[in-house]
Amino acid sequence: MKNIKNTTSDNICFYMAINQINKNTIKDVCYEAKSNKKVRAVSFNFHTPYPNTSKLALSKTEKQHCCDVIAQMIDEKVPVFNLKNAFPYLIDQKFPTPCHQCLVIENGKISICGRCIDVPNLCSQCGYFFVAEYTLIFGGNRKMILDMLKTYLKYI
Ligand code: SF4
Repeated sequence: MKNIKNTTSDNICFYMAINQINKNTIKDVCYEAKSNKKVRAVSFNFHTPYPNTSKLALSKTEKQHCCDVIAQMIDEKVPVFNLKNAFPYLIDQKFPTPCHQCLVIENGKISICGRCIDVPNLCSQCGYFFVAEYTLIFGGNRKMILDMLKTYLKYI
């Protein structure tokens, strides 16, 4: 926060992966984003349980609670750069995976996602909000498309 106060940039986005350690700080992060003129938006993910990090992952009930808090923040006009209509899919872990829109070439190897190379079964526990949002949008989900237009137009 000290670094943000001292920066000359006014185009900062908070990016928070919600986990067992920080799950109760969502409102604090949102209110800071709303009150700090240098911060344009805040964007969330749930912790994706990469090897040896499963203790940080949230339960379904905890995800539901977090989504309720984020939805409340959106209603309070916090600049949240996520799509509310994706929340039920994220809570139930029911969105199309893997995320074919993330094509990455790393170490000479083509992968569908640079962060998930060689991690078996990770997609079924994926916590990336943008994956749910974009796979649903590209799948033609109308509610998501409208939500995207409404949300993204605020930032253009
Ligand atoms: S874990 Fe998530 S981000 Fe990684 S490939 Fe699977 S769907 Fe994509």
